[in-house]
Amino acid sequence: MPRPIEALVHPAALAHNLARARGAAPDARLWAVVKANAYGHGIERAFEGLRGADGFALLDLAEAERVRALGWRGPVLLLEGVFEPRDLELCSRLNLWHVVHCNEQIDWLAAHKTQQPQRVFLKMNSGMNRLGFRAAALRAAWARLNALAQVDEISLMTHFSDADGERGVAHQVAAFEAATRDLPGERSLSNSAAILRHGLRSDWVRAGILSYGSAPDFPQHDIRHWGLRPAMTLRSRLIATQQLQSGDTVGYGSRFVASGPQRIGIVACGYADGYPRHAGTDTPVLVDGVRTGTVGRVSMDMLAVDLTPVPQAGIGSEVTLWGHGPHGSLLAIDDVAQAAGTIGYELMCAVAPRVPMRVAADVEP
Ligand SMILES: *Cc1c(COP(=O)(O)O)cnc(C)c1O
Repeated sequence: MPRPIEALVHPAALAHNLARARGAAPDARLWAVVKANAYGHGIERAFEGLRGADGFALLDLAEAERVRALGWRGPVLLLEGVFEPRDLELCSRLNLWHVVHCNEQIDWLAAHKTQQPQRVFLKMNSGMNRLGFRAAALRAAWARLNALAQVDEISLMTHFSDADGERGVAHQVAAFEAATRDLPGERSLSNSAAILRHGLRSDWVRAGILSYGSAPDFPQHDIRHWGLRPAMTLRSRLIATQQLQSGDTVGYGSRFVASGPQRIGIVACGYADGYPRHAGTDTPVLVDGVRTGTVGRVSMDMLAVDLTPVPQAGIGSEVTLWGHGPHGSLLAIDDVAQAAGTIGYELMCAVAPRVPMRVAADVEP
């Protein structure tokens, strides 16, 4: 028998979450952001749930090929644009739209031989200071692109640094609007946090993390607040139990010391499965759908959980590391991430290749 750990992808939850994005930005067309292999879910596994989007946005050219191989003929956008001149050949062949964020990319376009003019998203650096043209250089970049026979339509985009937090987006929106006021073309501004929190109008919004059922502004708001559902479940089983006495320790480094008699379970899940090693004692976990906590250090292949609230649990009991558990129970990935000092994004992207992952059969997660 294989180790009992597995990950499930829930198409109904993906579709539900995408519908939430539509509800929050009803006038916009919707990019489903599927970079990083659909945030760890697998592009092929996530496709069914996300195909209601208007387009797919990603970074990796190989991932763009996979989206086309699934039969998707609608828009595909390369969020970082091309990385070298010959990438433009693939853009022509697969009809990929691409971001232009620097002058070198314009040079490459100018030298590109194609019969098919390409659609580009000119990126403004409105304050994030990663990619894009500053306000002073934007107009010249637009004029250069506009003069190229290789370029068809020019859209405008920017990316927010603080859509999930206190600083907000107003300063970047103002910079973007001032710099682009008299330029034609469609606009794309919002990521998940901006879609949910700021209600900006633009032609295209870019929904990433919200589609996967993690709250972009956790802990200020959780998935229940935003009406989102986990799109991934990581689950396993108990492979042993231990009865501790007062003073007994658990795991490497003896980081947990029992203060009295206590029953614990050993779960077939460790950091080599992508579970965060930084999750300390009391990281939330479900056993038979009952919320309890981890005990001691996470090791490579195992972790321990407190069975005090689930006295009936034994070998084979189902353990939900995050996502949907038995009897309608639910553990948000954000709760686990917080206990490990990280964010839901990182955990879902980090599920290890050794964990079998499949599309859940259930219609409703
Ligand atoms: C990743 C990414 C997004 C999606 O961000 P979320 O916070 O996951 O919604 C949007 N736009 C760009 C440019 C990105 O790189």
